[in-house]
Amino acid sequence: MLVLSHLLPDSANLKLENCILDEIKTQINVIVSAITRVVNCPVCNQPTHKIHSRYERLLADLPWADYSITLQLKVRKFFCINKLCKRRIFTERLTNVRDHL
Ligand SMILES: [Zn+2]
Repeated sequence: MLVLSHLLPDSANLKLENCILDEIKTQINVIVSAITRVVNCPVCNQPTHKIHSRYERLLADLPWADYSITLQLKVRKFFCINKLCKRRIFTERLTNVRDHL
């Protein structure tokens, strides 16, 4: 697990939650989520920790030998707490993940 956490696309901002190896499907499912508890609204830049909901994104990564790798990324949606902001709900930005995959 420790070695895997160093191989994440953005180990400074993502934490490894679990890793499931399926020998029959020759697949490794790596479950990750963001470390940060507070994020800024992309419109007004107001910091918030109020989570609206969570969902999962599945991303394929390069294979390891015979094993395919799937990154199961837990993504959060937040409320913007700035009453003057036009954005009520937004998804956290994990831009470094997109850059690597
Ligand atoms: Zn806002």
